[in-house]
Amino acid sequence: MTITAPHVPAGNAPLANALEQLRSAAEALEIDAGSVQLLAQARREISVGVPLRRDDDTVEVFRGYRVQHNFTRGPAKGGVRFSPSVDLDEVRALAMWMTWKCALVDLPYGGAKGGVAIDPRRYSDAEIERVTRRYTSEILPVIGPDRDIPAPDVGTDERTMAWMMDTFSVSHGFTVQSVVTGKPIALGGSLGRATSTSRGVALVTLAALDRRGITPTAATAAVQGFGKVGRHAARLLAEAGVCVRAVSDQYGAVIASNGLDVESLCDHVDAHGTVVGFPGADPLDAEDLLRLDVEVLVPAAVEGAIHAENVEGIRAAIIVEGANGPVTTAADVVLAARGVLVVPDILANAGGVIVSYFEWVQAKQTYRWSLDTVESRLRDRMLTAWAAVTAEQTRRGGTLREAAMRIAVERVLDAHRNRGLYP
Ligand code: NAD
Repeated sequence: MTITAPHVPAGNAPLANALEQLRSAAEALEIDAGSVQLLAQARREISVGVPLRRDDDTVEVFRGYRVQHNFTRGPAKGGVRFSPSVDLDEVRALAMWMTWKCALVDLPYGGAKGGVAIDPRRYSDAEIERVTRRYTSEILPVIGPDRDIPAPDVGTDERTMAWMMDTFSVSHGFTVQSVVTGKPIALGGSLGRATSTSRGVALVTLAALDRRGITPTAATAAVQGFGKVGRHAARLLAEAGVCVRAVSDQYGAVIASNGLDVESLCDHVDAHGTVVGFPGADPLDAEDLLRLDVEVLVPAAVEGAIHAENVEGIRAAIIVEGANGPVTTAADVVLAARGVLVVPDILANAGGVIVSYFEWVQAKQTYRWSLDTVESRLRDRMLTAWAAVTAEQTRRGGTLREAAMRIAVERVLDAHRNRGLYP
């Protein structure tokens, strides 16, 4: 089966991997060619110029995007990324993964993603605020609590969401809390949202260890990326008794063979902006982190971190995809042949969108849930999805990713079939 999309890039680009995953699921599910084309293409894409008046009064223009891959099951949902690597194909891939993720954990959402091709570290806070507000106003016609609900991703955070919510609200003349998730608590953010993706990562890591008959206290782990996802994943794994030996960020990596003191490392990162130089550990080459002899490797940074050229060096028994698309299709094949258990992104990092959904529900109800309620409902959803994926794998074989994709694609297609094709 071949897939027709507006653009199918070659090699290991995220979109090539996303389309290959869809092709493989479609083949297993024997989906007709027309339906596959429907799922391979985004429902709506918008590309916008984002001009910025800099603090020194010069003007720069950035490219911004919002892609709504699918909204057949409900409003589109997905993060906003501020990174120099952002381009339309990357956003398309990330939007498609959001569709499968939301379907897999059974949220009434479709998938979307957005981004601006900017390196936020090179601009002042006031400049980033102006970029955020202008980007929001450019995509205003396609977002909204029942249309498309943005959230934080790489390079954005709760402050970015506050500016997006404020821009949307001011332009409508009243406060609309449910237009974004991942907001500050003071503006209707949910308790437990900030750690939700990582909590989900930790939950499925412990489930995967259990499946392999390894107790947490007998396990070692390495975490690539120490941002919103990686930092709390490392902390929660350490709390569960796992020995977190090494972590990295874009500046370098650190290792402590007997386990890092993750709490102290977090303090170090808050003070210095990087894991590098942490006094309780030795420096490590960031690429060597991927090759460590550990039970669990959590890539929680960028797409394509584990690829055809470095996969032979991977020694971990379990890989838990904290990031979106960190293992390329070519690497996936090698890992599957070696019996490495790869917990796929659409399952492993779904905790963030699950609690985003809870935040949206709370905003719509104007009623706040307790942290206990949020965390126990998150746990239920994650473990239900884990059980569904492992049962599907037992039933029809393949990798966990293939099983997860079959469930997700089938659910989205089922919604399409029930709605019918207009006109
Ligand atoms: P972030 O910007 O908060 O953190 C990214 C981290 O990765 C930083 O520590 C950065 O220094 C590090 N990094 C960047 N390049 C690196 C490299 N080459 N090697 C090692 N480290 C590197 O972003 P985040 O929100 O933590 O997102 C990380 C990944 O998780 C992304 O793929 C994102 O799409 C995915 N994700 C995030 C969420 C969420 O709730 N934030 C939810 C689901 C998935």
